Amino acid sequence: MSSTRLPLRDNLFKEIYRIEDEVPNFKSYVAGEWIEFPSKITVKSPIDGSIIARVSIPDWEAIDRTLDLVYVKGRWSIRNTPGEKRLKIIDKIADLMEEHKDEFIETLVVDAGKPVRHARGEVEASIDRLRKAPLDLRKLEGDYVPGDWSIHTLESEGIVRREPYGVVLAIIPFNYPLFDTVNKFVYSVIPGNAFIIKPPSSDPISTLMFVRVVLATGFPADSIAIIPLPGREASKLVADRRIHVISLTGSTKTGLEVIRNAGIKQFILELGGGDPAIVLADADLATAAQKIAIGVTSYSGQRCDAIKIILVEEPIYEEFKKLLVEELSKIRVGDPRDPSTDMGPLIEPQSVDEMIDAVEEAKSYGCKILYGGKRLGGNYVEPTLIEVTERHTLKLLKLYRDEVFAPVAIITKFRDLDEAIELANNRRYGLDAAIFGENIDKIRKLVRFLEVGAIYVNEYPRHGIGYYPFGGRKDSGIGREGIGYSIEHVTATKTIIYNYRGKGIWEYL
Ligand code: NAP
Repeated sequence: MSSTRLPLRDNLFKEIYRIEDEVPNFKSYVAGEWIEFPSKITVKSPIDGSIIARVSIPDWEAIDRTLDLVYVKGRWSIRNTPGEKRLKIIDKIADLMEEHKDEFIETLVVDAGKPVRHARGEVEASIDRLRKAPLDLRKLEGDYVPGDWSIHTLESEGIVRREPYGVVLAIIPFNYPLFDTVNKFVYSVIPGNAFIIKPPSSDPISTLMFVRVVLATGFPADSIAIIPLPGREASKLVADRRIHVISLTGSTKTGLEVIRNAGIKQFILELGGGDPAIVLADADLATAAQKIAIGVTSYSGQRCDAIKIILVEEPIYEEFKKLLVEELSKIRVGDPRDPSTDMGPLIEPQSVDEMIDAVEEAKSYGCKILYGGKRLGGNYVEPTLIEVTERHTLKLLKLYRDEVFAPVAIITKFRDLDEAIELANNRRYGLDAAIFGENIDKIRKLVRFLEVGAIYVNEYPRHGIGYYPFGGRKDSGIGREGIGYSIEHVTATKTIIYNYRGKGIWEYL
């Protein structure tokens, strides 16, 4: 029997699950209907490991039927729904989410282990993203190309228009299961693509609820599907030729596997990161420490844009270190259902092991733990800050080389900007960076040389709803997310050339 439960109370969601031994067994939405399959993903709450749900894994025969339906019919049903109607449907989805907001929030708390404040933030961001859909359509632009600039194209003209590729497969990470689904849904559907979701296995419930909401608004029933499937069994799905675009948010390792398995397709890959924060000597140190502490610990460091490396200019290093430790000591770790909790559990026990191993490795290289470093039982850990004093050890550390998805960061000092740039750029990732300071010349130099997709000046990195575009360079990915900026990846240009030769329209001199 589970002690932690999903907040299922609303009639809207009743048809997508069946209670067995007090645990809801969710159906998946495939081939145009909600179906329960014998094979299941068992979903546990990170709060205390209770089994909170079982989710149906469709067999390949059902997946094949789904792909057929979406490819043959669904991609035309959505395209034949006029844009203004599509916008109205998206608005209705936002209204319905608003209506069921509390249920979504409570689901994220129990399923993803998010503190209430953060779960509310994710649901509100999802509603906001839906409401901002009209901003995306402005990027659905085309070109008119006159023919009279080449001797070979006189008396002709071209129009370059954008059209949807057809079917987008969205592969969703555990850390923002609802928002990432909503965001990918909006930018795929606005230009007229059909949409298939591969939810995360650790916390898929909010994505199933989202599909239920979408279907309650008159969205074409054959233009959407959700295929819960363990990632390691998804290679046949990603390789399928009925899928035109893969939009994956996940780790770099998964990105590489997906690219290898998928073959020639369009990709948006929002991959691993973990960001450097550079603190300059003239920064407002108290504010920088406060913001960096949030950047390290928010959602237990399980964010692609979490701060993992803190580089501090030498003259202020000792003072800043003290301030940051003070800020970290204020973070309240605990049950995410308690409104006073700042930091809840990690998603699964293996994440705790991975963090503790990385901390032990750092200790074995002579690094000093300035704060935290311990497990607190279950999936809970302390926020952790590790000091690297010997420069040559930095590049050996897992905490520098890889992305450790937990509330842990390393801190070290730098003498000049070139050193800071080298330390930031030597990592394989290039998602974002933060700079704290006032000297405009120093900031400008850092902006020029840092190899990242976004730079936050006097702020910790936060992609938010993608009001500003974000996305990685190097091993952090391909393409951009952010309102309007993904349209180019989910649409193809088509050039139409009209030949009027000899029709007497142009009379060239
Ligand atoms: P993950 O383990 O890579 O999983 C992401 C998704 O990919 C899950 O749905 C997973 O399914 C699926 N998957 C795994 N292997 C697959 C395969 N071979 N073929 C197809 N799908 C596969 O990542 P995560 O732990 O959920 O999320 C954290 C990662 O996402 C971090 O690296 C983080 O930096 C990154 N992230 C990046 C951004 C960004 O904007 N750049 C934003 C958020 C997160 P299962 O759940 O069934 O394994």
